[in-house]
Amino acid sequence: MRSNGTEGGRKNPASFLKDREIRSLKGIPTVLSRMQPRDLSSHQEYVPGRGVEEVAAAHGMDPADLVTLSSNENPLGPSDAAIDAIASHVDSVHRYPKASHLELTDALADHWNLDRSQVWVASGGDGALDYLSRAVLEPGDRVLVPRPGFAYYGMSARFHHGDVDTYELSQSTGFEMTAPGVLGDYDGHRIVYVTSPHNPTGRTMALDELEMLAEQTDEETLVVVDEAYGEFADTGGARELLDGRDDIAVLRSFSKAYGLAGLRLGYALVPEAWGDAYIRVNTPFAVNELACRAGVAALGASEHLERGIDLARWGRTYLGEELSVHTWPSEGNFVLVDVGDASRVAAQLIPRGYIVRDCTSFGLPSCIRITIGRQEATRGVATALDEVAAEVANR
Ligand SMILES: *Cc1c(COP(=O)(O)O)cnc(C)c1O
Repeated sequence: MRSNGTEGGRKNPASFLKDREIRSLKGIPTVLSRMQPRDLSSHQEYVPGRGVEEVAAAHGMDPADLVTLSSNENPLGPSDAAIDAIASHVDSVHRYPKASHLELTDALADHWNLDRSQVWVASGGDGALDYLSRAVLEPGDRVLVPRPGFAYYGMSARFHHGDVDTYELSQSTGFEMTAPGVLGDYDGHRIVYVTSPHNPTGRTMALDELEMLAEQTDEETLVVVDEAYGEFADTGGARELLDGRDDIAVLRSFSKAYGLAGLRLGYALVPEAWGDAYIRVNTPFAVNELACRAGVAALGASEHLERGIDLARWGRTYLGEELSVHTWPSEGNFVLVDVGDASRVAAQLIPRGYIVRDCTSFGLPSCIRITIGRQEATRGVATALDEVAAEVANR
């Protein structure tokens, strides 16, 4: 069979090169392939908080002189129970995580008093967002996401050929989240995302507002309530809404309160009516053996969990009271702070030993987000921030 540019199945070099761009890289001719990814121009790169090694290297500092308060990680680390579970299963990683996956799913189903099919475990909360996108979105479907807000909602929707619209959380109302505030921008979207407690503002949406939102959106609209910080909240989560509704899913993560960010473990809780979709959309064995084992252990380590929650509650109150600059009340393990010029203040905190999150990428160029660290770090960053603020003001 002959086709253009091939002869006997072999490429004809001359026609292969025809109208392809030829570039010279260090004198070696390189043929640029016509093969390209699909149009990714509307896709954006996720900008993570910066870690100690990265910042230390960039500033010629000793990593030991830096504390990272930029990614909402647990400053107490993982629980001993989780560490033991990881250590004692290291020698079985040649096996697929079949039994452990089931064990984790069952432990979570038990924890939340739901059917096993309603617990969709995934590689991080982000992975669970992907499963929801896969299960729900048809090409061209629209999703509605908060601004400022978590970048991955829009990313996941675009990966799954969806389009993204936003609703505003306004600084003038203290980033309040209400059903009418979302519904004002709602237009039959397939998924509406609510983050509660919200990242980066720390606000929650009341359960009756969530219920109203689900009620007043179309029957085919799924309201995803992202509770990655749910353990730190003063108010109860949206799990109870799953009992009476088929249009709400709840997202949870082991990355924050459970201190397992590096293992990538999260899950969605979904309504019974379509729980069985999981087996059609999940990536086989997406949660690894060690993550499954650590997750089960972490669920049982309630003392460690409580210690982290207490620390976060103490720290967010402390920063709210001690800082001379404006802060917003938070129900998460972080506090949003208005510093005027976020990138400058974040940069000036680095030589003082603190890495915080510049919220410019969230669309809040005057704000930084400070993760609650250990007590010493929380006190230290408060002092450092007041020094920096005074310096900026005295210029
Ligand atoms: C951290 C976070 C997640 C999930 O993170 P994973 O590490 O993927 O579990 C989800 N939503 C928000 C708002 C977050 O801040």
